[in-house]
Amino acid sequence: MPIQTQVLIIGGGATGTGLARDLSLRGVSCLVVEKQDINAGASGGNHGLLHSGARYVAADREAAMECREEGEILKNMAPQCIENTGGLFVAVAGDDENYVARFPHMCRKCHIPCTEITPDQAREWEPCLSKDIIAAFEVEDGAIDPFMLSLDNLAHAMSLGCKVIRNARVTGFDISSQAIRRVCLTNETTGKEFHIEAEMVVNAAGAWAGTIAAMAGAEIHILYSKGSLLVTQDRLAKRVINRLRKASDADILVPGGTVSVLGTTSVRIDDPDMYRPTIEETDRMIDNATAMIPVLETTRYIRAYAGVRPLVFTGKGADGRSLSRGFSLIDHQENGVDNFVSITGGKLTTYRLMAEKTADMVCRKLGITTPCATRTTPLPASSRGHWTEPGYAPRSWIRHKADNDLILCECEMVSRQGIDQIISNMDTMRGRSMLTAMGLRSRVGKGPCQGGFCGLRITGHLYDQGHVTGNRGIRELTHFIEGRWKGFAPILWDLPLMQAELQEALYCGMLDLELQAKEQDRDQ
Ligand SMILES: Cc1cc2nc3c(=O)[nH]c(=O)nc-3n(C[C@H](O)[C@H](O)[C@H](O)COP(=O)(O)OP(=O)(O)OC[C@H]3O[C@@H](n4cnc5c(N)ncnc54)[C@H](O)[C@@H]3O)c2cc1C
Repeated sequence: MPIQTQVLIIGGGATGTGLARDLSLRGVSCLVVEKQDINAGASGGNHGLLHSGARYVAADREAAMECREEGEILKNMAPQCIENTGGLFVAVAGDDENYVARFPHMCRKCHIPCTEITPDQAREWEPCLSKDIIAAFEVEDGAIDPFMLSLDNLAHAMSLGCKVIRNARVTGFDISSQAIRRVCLTNETTGKEFHIEAEMVVNAAGAWAGTIAAMAGAEIHILYSKGSLLVTQDRLAKRVINRLRKASDADILVPGGTVSVLGTTSVRIDDPDMYRPTIEETDRMIDNATAMIPVLETTRYIRAYAGVRPLVFTGKGADGRSLSRGFSLIDHQENGVDNFVSITGGKLTTYRLMAEKTADMVCRKLGITTPCATRTTPLPASSRGHWTEPGYAPRSWIRHKADNDLILCECEMVSRQGIDQIISNMDTMRGRSMLTAMGLRSRVGKGPCQGGFCGLRITGHLYDQGHVTGNRGIRELTHFIEGRWKGFAPILWDLPLMQAELQEALYCGMLDLELQAKEQDRDQ
């Protein structure tokens, strides 16, 4: 029997989960399907900057104003996901002084608050800034935790009746009489096929939106722009620091709780599944950014990661940076499929607006008149999301410490009790790897050891508790470590290289993980 729902949402990123909440608040029943896990796409691979809009004042005024308005709403409605750091735009000797002079005027035109301060004042606030700063402006940027955002949105939607199926890949549609009658899916864990019947289908598949649209015979022209980012071991600045110039590589340093995130690049790729940070990109970013923040040359990086921006091609721009960062909402009625809508592009900062506009279209088609409530209804903090907050795990450990509790992830201080709570918050959502799923819902594996010690300890605990048996735990550990490896392979010099060698000795010398991987290949 096919599963039935009023609205099927394809994609469990910020847009899909935000839409699930918006529709649920309007009393519409919906189901989210995700081929991997929540935030497996760009929502789990971005910079975490809550844009004030100032970054886009020159290239895209509409996107700039959307960011300003949405940033304000989110600061009020989802404060638990945001650190209201404030931001600086700084120019360095040699930067385009004409651009610097026009900047406050461009911000004013977009109603974006921007105050000039002296370079000395900027350096007093952020001592990491170069002494070659020639101009500085204060703006209202912030930092946002995208993991918590999607998990809180989903938790609220689920409390209102929304359902979620992870590890469920949409593979095709059965279409007749101008409507999708059945959606075909594969359970990625078991390989089994199943079907869903929905009155409306929404394609919120981010960079994969073109692939999903093609299943309905529709075309969305998407350029894939890969962006890579670097995570420092410590937090280098209190505020977001932006380079005051036309958008380029390594322009922004964003605080991410206890660390800082440097980014980003913009590299055209052909396939949204083929992305990873490269050595060449990390070298280029560090070379570029040191003019603004000299310590970036010698600081320790613990990880690199990447995400893919789906830039919807309108025929106007030629490269990834000149295309609009606005979003595209497409009613596929124009392609002869009445109950199918796509939403893609945009920003994390504008996910709520994207969800609102999409839900408006879906409701119009369903004949539902209940208005959007997410502008004024606070997003409740949830137990699914709070483990991603820096400092939550140690606070919880100190508050509830039992005599026999142990710290299993010592970089982020996640205790055995904490791990058990993260597991219970996941419900049945373990999918193919509980360890990797845990990483997306907490800070496990995110510290300087990058899974070196916590991977082993947590796997031992999973065996002790009977969550994994036989070879399963070792397979999950291999998968988890491979994921971490992708992140530190491009930054292997100095301390990270020593750390990687230690990790290799642990995992290959003690557990023969590299041989296990070969055996798994043979088994498959
Ligand atoms: C490098 C980089 C830096 C960025 N920095 C910022 C920033 O600082 N601030 C900001 O505001 N924005 C930023 N963005 C943009 C922001 O990340 C995206 O706008 C946002 O995350 C998009 O969310 P989404 O839900 O639309 O897409 P995604 O998060 O990509 O979600 C799409 C989901 O669909 C799933 N899916 C795909 N195909 C299928 C299928 N066949 N079946 C089922 N599920 C499927 C995927 O697995 C994925 O989880 C950045 C983006 C990148 C790439």
